[in-house]
Amino acid sequence: FPVENIRNFSIIAHVDHGKSTLADRLLELTGTIDKTKNNKQVLDKLQVERERGITVKAQTASLFHDCEGKQYLLNLIDTPGHVDFSYEVSRSLSACQGVLLVVDANEGIQAQTVANFFLAFEAQLSVIPVINKIDLKNADPERVENQIEKVFDIPSDECIKISAKLGTNVESVLQAIIERIPPPKVDRKNPLRALVFDSTFDHYRGVVANVALFDGVVSKGDKIVSAHTQKVYEVNEVGVLNPNEQPTHKLYAGQVGYLIAGMKDVTEAQIGDTLHLRKQPVEPLPGFKSAKPMVFAGIYPVDQSEYNNLKSAIEKLTLNDSSVTVHRDSSLALGAGWRLGFLGLLHMEVFNQRLEQEYNASVILTTPTVPYKAVLSSSKLIKEYREKEITIINPAQFPDKSKVTEYLEPVVLGTIITPDEYTGKIMMLCQARRAVQKNMMFIDQNRVMLKYLFPLNEIVVDFYDSLKSLSSGYASFDYEDAGYQTAELVKMDILLNGNIVEELVTVVHKDKAHSIGKAMCERLKDCLPRQLFEIAIQASIGSKIIARETVKAYRKNVLAKCYGGDITRKMKLLKRQAEGKKKLRKIGNIEVPKDTFIKVLKTQ
Ligand code: GDP
Ligand code: MG
Repeated sequence: FPVENIRNFSIIAHVDHGKSTLADRLLELTGTIDKTKNNKQVLDKLQVERERGITVKAQTASLFHDCEGKQYLLNLIDTPGHVDFSYEVSRSLSACQGVLLVVDANEGIQAQTVANFFLAFEAQLSVIPVINKIDLKNADPERVENQIEKVFDIPSDECIKISAKLGTNVESVLQAIIERIPPPKVDRKNPLRALVFDSTFDHYRGVVANVALFDGVVSKGDKIVSAHTQKVYEVNEVGVLNPNEQPTHKLYAGQVGYLIAGMKDVTEAQIGDTLHLRKQPVEPLPGFKSAKPMVFAGIYPVDQSEYNNLKSAIEKLTLNDSSVTVHRDSSLALGAGWRLGFLGLLHMEVFNQRLEQEYNASVILTTPTVPYKAVLSSSKLIKEYREKEITIINPAQFPDKSKVTEYLEPVVLGTIITPDEYTGKIMMLCQARRAVQKNMMFIDQNRVMLKYLFPLNEIVVDFYDSLKSLSSGYASFDYEDAGYQTAELVKMDILLNGNIVEELVTVVHKDKAHSIGKAMCERLKDCLPRQLFEIAIQASIGSKIIARETVKAYRKNVLAKCYGGDITRKMKLLKRQAEGKKKLRKIGNIEVPKDTFIKVLKTQ
């Protein structure tokens, strides 16, 4: 296929603006899929994707299109649809020369539209704005054109107005792809240089890597090397995606397709890696970095007897998602489990939902935390850790203030787009979350775009829900990684009658310690059963008590009901009471049921 007749593109959009519907229409229009079948969202394959309307794993399809006597090969590279996956979005974008930026004609530009646009803009891609859903009664395409001109500096006459649902004007989208997106700049005579932009695990064939070829040719039988791991593989199969896998003899530079080479798990074919021929090393394509987890949570089986089932479910799911990190962990209260690292909150929720749906696992997920850092001053500690800066993902490893020069917390740059009338309330919410305003701009007469720098840990729990509820659902939010900032962090202990409860130790910002400590004490008070003596629940920082609640004593006497006589009945009751205690954990002389820990530790 001549390179000048190839176009590699992606569709980017805020959730629900019509990315999948447009993809389906393009597939139909080019005859890639049959129009008569029920083609609703062919590219969204996972159940969780259909339910949440987001794409978790990118799907790719090659379309053939005839235009003015020439045949074109249009490679549609689907990108994951959410900010949590923005690393993956930018990797898939690097396989493209252009994007369709889909915006709903009724809702207009939303937070994800902005975030996605800038990923494409930074990658220097041609951006084709597509205003979708013009069939809707409240559609206002002119208003959206003006927003696009104002926010993205794209002349409004470049916008294509369509209805993906009805198929109106979708032809001109194909036309624009051919006219406005340049063919890939590649050289087939150079040695092979292929970008891995996605990978999935197949039980029978191992890893299937989706690749975009920048240089050279690859055929079955070639010996290839991963630039990242330096491992050598023999290519067993190559092919194109239509959108199902279709084996071919070779893949040429400019083409997009799949490759199977006996890689055993997805960590061997990481997104962003470069593949080349053995003995013909090339400069790896720029920008590879391993996706780094930003949200951590403990995961435990509800019942320890399910440990092995849960273990194999986690193993299977991570086979397909190399961005989840897994470490074994154990908690005195919750038993044996794992500490998992995710790219973001949605990533965590999606993983949890897949565990439940696809593997029928019932799990306890603990409140998420973010990776803090400490810059060490004590040379003894530096020796122990072998470096000056350490990452703290477990509060138990939090080094004391006397041993550090500063603590650091991860921050993100958040974009919020909202109808003007909610701006005041939203600013208050952001302030309460320790966010610093960076920018504010009207994108039309009554819509505002706000930019804030947020400490990540302030948005990992219920920020999005609060934002939605105080804006009646109208505000949208998205964020991007913005590094680390200095933070005054402290370790907070929870004590029961003076004894520290290890599983409730948390790292909090100094300004939030009071309110978080108080809330934890109150929650414990609500779910800790009364015992034979009074229990003092305290939150403390070092030796300073910052919150306190009391659980009153309660006399529970199992023998009160039996009137002396029947000794076997008495023994039976005593035995039952003793069995009940097995599930309890003792803190000092206080018995804490597992249930209490679940209630206090679990994500609300
Ligand atoms: P995605 O999240 O961007 O992939 O969006 P979808 O393609 O899943 O579309 C979200 C919803 O909008 C679905 O219910 C679609 O049927 C609907 N939709 C998509 N395109 C149009 C359109 O042109 N007109 C109307 N009225 N609805 C549309
Ligand atoms: Mg979709």
